[in-house]
Amino acid sequence: MKYDAVVVGAGIIGMATAYHVLRTNPGKKILVIEKFAAPGQGNTAKSAGAYRNVFSSNTNFTLSDTSVNYFLDIHDKGVDIGLEKAGYLWLFTKEQYEKRKPLFDDMIRNGVELRFIPQNELKQILPDLNPKPDDEEAQMMGLGEIHIGVFGKKCGFIDADRLTRYYEQEFKAIGGEIKYNTEVKKLIVEPNEPIGVPWEPFIWQDVNVVGVSTTAGEIRADKIFVATNAWAPQLLDAVGIDSLIKSAKHQMFVLRSEKMDRLMHPKGLSEKEILPFTILPKSVVYIRPDVHEGSFWVSAHDGLGHGLKFEEDPKPENEFYEYNIYQILRKYLPIVDGVNPSNKWAGLYDVNSIDANPYIFEKGNVISVIGLSGSGIMKADAVGRIATAMYNGQEYAELYGGKKFKVSDLGISNRKVEKELFVL
Ligand SMILES: Cc1cc2nc3c(=O)[nH]c(=O)nc-3n(C[C@H](O)[C@H](O)[C@H](O)COP(=O)(O)OP(=O)(O)OC[C@H]3O[C@@H](n4cnc5c(N)ncnc54)[C@H](O)[C@@H]3O)c2cc1C
Repeated sequence: MKYDAVVVGAGIIGMATAYHVLRTNPGKKILVIEKFAAPGQGNTAKSAGAYRNVFSSNTNFTLSDTSVNYFLDIHDKGVDIGLEKAGYLWLFTKEQYEKRKPLFDDMIRNGVELRFIPQNELKQILPDLNPKPDDEEAQMMGLGEIHIGVFGKKCGFIDADRLTRYYEQEFKAIGGEIKYNTEVKKLIVEPNEPIGVPWEPFIWQDVNVVGVSTTAGEIRADKIFVATNAWAPQLLDAVGIDSLIKSAKHQMFVLRSEKMDRLMHPKGLSEKEILPFTILPKSVVYIRPDVHEGSFWVSAHDGLGHGLKFEEDPKPENEFYEYNIYQILRKYLPIVDGVNPSNKWAGLYDVNSIDANPYIFEKGNVISVIGLSGSGIMKADAVGRIATAMYNGQEYAELYGGKKFKVSDLGISNRKVEKELFVL
């Protein structure tokens, strides 16, 4: 049987794409193929599930802001996607803040709601914060004094698993098909006009990708979406479609200790008084509360020195917590002193290290939807709609709320995006 389109990967990006493709093409035969047993079990499951509309690139702002509007609306309609309006809080040294000041001015002009919180006010809101770690170790690590907090209001947390299942249910409800436990081994490339001899295709033939070879046999389709995140090079590069992305390992450590409980509900920030997604100076270490479990997730952005390599099943490293995250965390939040992680995991970012915006491009019947660069949950709805507009042959995608987005801006040949400076 031949499908109109096959989507490889049932992460948040594959599921949002599949749903919007079928929503705008009712009656078409659309199949999602996923190697795991359920949706969102790849990097989606590893995420911190945080959302924000605070980005320096206008593109990223539009992608996240319109997606967040969609998530807020379904949340208001009663869909349980675990949405918590907790906000984001960047803690900056004077130097860091001054460097970014023009970016904040631009963001405010764009409609991003920001609140600037001076050090003395921060100390009242977060009494456990030590804004001025000045011992010898802190000096050696170059940990500067926190001068200001920048609070992003339209930011918070989403349960990435529930959000992915929401798209899965919506997709199935309008007739979408999904094959779990099925791995795509390769994309099938065939000449448009085969002559039926061995060694085809030849270089003088016009070729296209006509389907996928899977652990459950061959499946043919007119269009193939590749939404396989860090696994994308395995399918794309193998047939000569440059995937343009690298893998970067990101690790998460869970801290749970009674003495940290008082960090959970600071007064004077968000309505529900939940600790925001808080990023410490140098923008490397962040802490995110899990209100339901009474724990805190901590992670860090790996800079120069840590490899960009693919691993099928990346593992968290205790040393990464102990010698890196913990050392910074305990200086600014001495309350974590002596707390060891009770759980941990690691996943991969599919990094576009040129501009940190997603890639959506078509070659040989394949639409690649990759390069989410660590912020795929918060942009998923817009990305799904743009990939759909490409499938529908439209020049502009209509994002949630009616905003138009030029599809080719996220492509390769006519790419038009600004470099993102707020990467975590
Ligand atoms: C530690 C960490 C924290 C993060 N925090 C955030 C955050 O707070 N907010 C945010 O927005 N983003 C965050 N991200 C990024 C976010 O998780 C990703 O951008 C998002 O999940 C990407 O979704 P995806 O569908 O592209 O990828 P995935 O969820 O990885 O989905 C790809 C799917 O393709 C399947 N697949 C791969 N190859 C094949 C094949 N050959 N055949 C069949 N199936 C295949 C995989 O099994 C997988 O299910 C974080 C990521 C990590 C690792």
